[in-house]
Amino acid sequence: MENFVYHNPTQLIFGRGQLAQLEEKARQLGPTVLLVYGGGSIKRTGLYDKVISLLQSAGCRVHELPGVEPNPRLGTVNKGIELCRREGVNWILAVGGGSVIDAAKAVAIGVPYEGDVWDFYTRKAAAQEALPLGTVLTLAATGSEMNRGSVVTNWETQEKHGASTTFPAFSILDPEHTFSVPRDQTIYGISDILSHVFEQYFTHTTEIPLQTRFAESIMKTVIENAERALANPEDYDARANIMYCGTMALNGTLPVGVTTDWATHSIEHAVSAVYDIPHGGGLAIIFPKWMRYVYRENVARFVRFATEVWNVDPAGKTDDEVALEGIAATEAFFERIGAPTRLADYGITDEHLQLMAEKATPFGPIGQFKTLTSDDVAQILRMSL
Ligand code: NAP
Ligand code: FE
Repeated sequence: MENFVYHNPTQLIFGRGQLAQLEEKARQLGPTVLLVYGGGSIKRTGLYDKVISLLQSAGCRVHELPGVEPNPRLGTVNKGIELCRREGVNWILAVGGGSVIDAAKAVAIGVPYEGDVWDFYTRKAAAQEALPLGTVLTLAATGSEMNRGSVVTNWETQEKHGASTTFPAFSILDPEHTFSVPRDQTIYGISDILSHVFEQYFTHTTEIPLQTRFAESIMKTVIENAERALANPEDYDARANIMYCGTMALNGTLPVGVTTDWATHSIEHAVSAVYDIPHGGGLAIIFPKWMRYVYRENVARFVRFATEVWNVDPAGKTDDEVALEGIAATEAFFERIGAPTRLADYGITDEHLQLMAEKATPFGPIGQFKTLTSDDVAQILRMSL
């Protein structure tokens, strides 16, 4: 096990009816708030009206940044920063999925920073200060509600990068807020959650039984609840289990003491930067191909994955065969829940393959499990076509 420091300051407020806690939080955080949300789902579900009413009861003046895009864009972030400066905003409330939360995080660190907020995403600057941020999560996927990551797209340069930004001070997670998530977004969320675990599970670090079992229990819980949530979108317990898994998959619990990978996320970000496809859709396509490309680096880990997560019976089989059965089971699961399996599902051909391979490796080779150059990425993308 490697050395580590573990710190997570986000207060997680989970369960039915917990939105009511927003009023007290708002009283503590100050009288002027920027409400950040997406393309209108919160208006259709009535959540917007409830949030406004609680903020008003707390005596808050509310400014709004609506229209945050899935794969949030730098231009929208800059609008939010200007608005906060002009109106003297004290704190930010993000109501939505990962895109809304990530855009709100970018605004939160951009307001006190004198330079261009994109500097944080191109690693020219590291975030020191931020406006306080709260979130009301409406989509189980990214874990952004309890981590300091944020992913923003600069559409002008066709770059999509993640940065370490700021933790939310609090996040309210009511699984009922995810009942209205459409089938495709539910599938993408499931894929993103599993992918976050994969990125931290496939490692060469040894003697990490607790982290390993944490990761396996998250994967099994997602797999057990996925089809339940898809069959009945209002199954509270299925939605609740998936939502909690989403948070635990990326709130800093899994990577402690472990060398993690993250190459597949870099590859997916490059695809999304060129084609603007859903993050979870891209991951469902690329991850199994990455697995096939790299599994020989540590077959034992893939054997464990196959036997523990997918119940592959190893009797009479070679390690290679068991490992490959585990990967095939992963593919079969994605297919069963209706996730996309090939880039062609999004109309993507090999036209910009080399460009995507280069965009995936902007700061040099990626990944830890197997270090990948742009040539390796090109091969994985070719396998994904
Ligand atoms: P999202 O992009 O936030 O939302 C996807 C779609 O779902 C939007 O159209 C949204 O509509 C809709 N939606 C959300 N909640 C809904 C609800 N309750 N009912 C109906 N529709 C709903 O999806 P996401 O997967 O959470 O976020 C993806 C982004 O996060 C990507 O940019 C990805 O790269 C990034 N990411 C971040 C992290 C991190 O740690 N920060 C980790 C992984 C990925 P509206 O816009 O109308 O609300
Ligand atoms: Fe992700």
